[in-house]
Amino acid sequence: MSDSIFTKILKGEIPSDIIIQTDDLFVIKDINPKAKTHLLIITKEEIPTLNDLPSNSDIPSKAVELAKRIANEMLEKPEYKLQINVGKNAGQEVFHIHFHFLSKFKLKSTV
Ligand code: AMP
Repeated sequence: MSDSIFTKILKGEIPSDIIIQTDDLFVIKDINPKAKTHLLIITKEEIPTLNDLPSNSDIPSKAVELAKRIANEMLEKPEYKLQINVGKNAGQEVFHIHFHFLSKFKLKSTV
């Protein structure tokens, strides 16, 4: 199976600024933003959907912790929503787990 667009970004094969990386996750700006700040928190491992995660996976809690860190350290005001699309009929286009991080507030830094 060929790599997803997000795996290609992670490997540096497609240009995109990775603004944060952890052991399991990386964060980029959405190319087609639907809010003033629209980030994608993406699993480094290419797993198609949230439904494919084992029930004991710590990825969801790690992604939520990373969202909180982004909000507290980088947003003008730490108010945001997280959205996960699961399946084509829910609007999922890229079959590689990612959390949409959307906020009306701007990023004050990307550190
Ligand atoms: P979803 O519909 O939940 O699968 O979301 C996929 C998201 O990936 C969409 O919001 C796209 O705008 C975004 N996207 C697709 N290609 C890229 C890219 N090369 N760089 C950044 N975001 C992308």
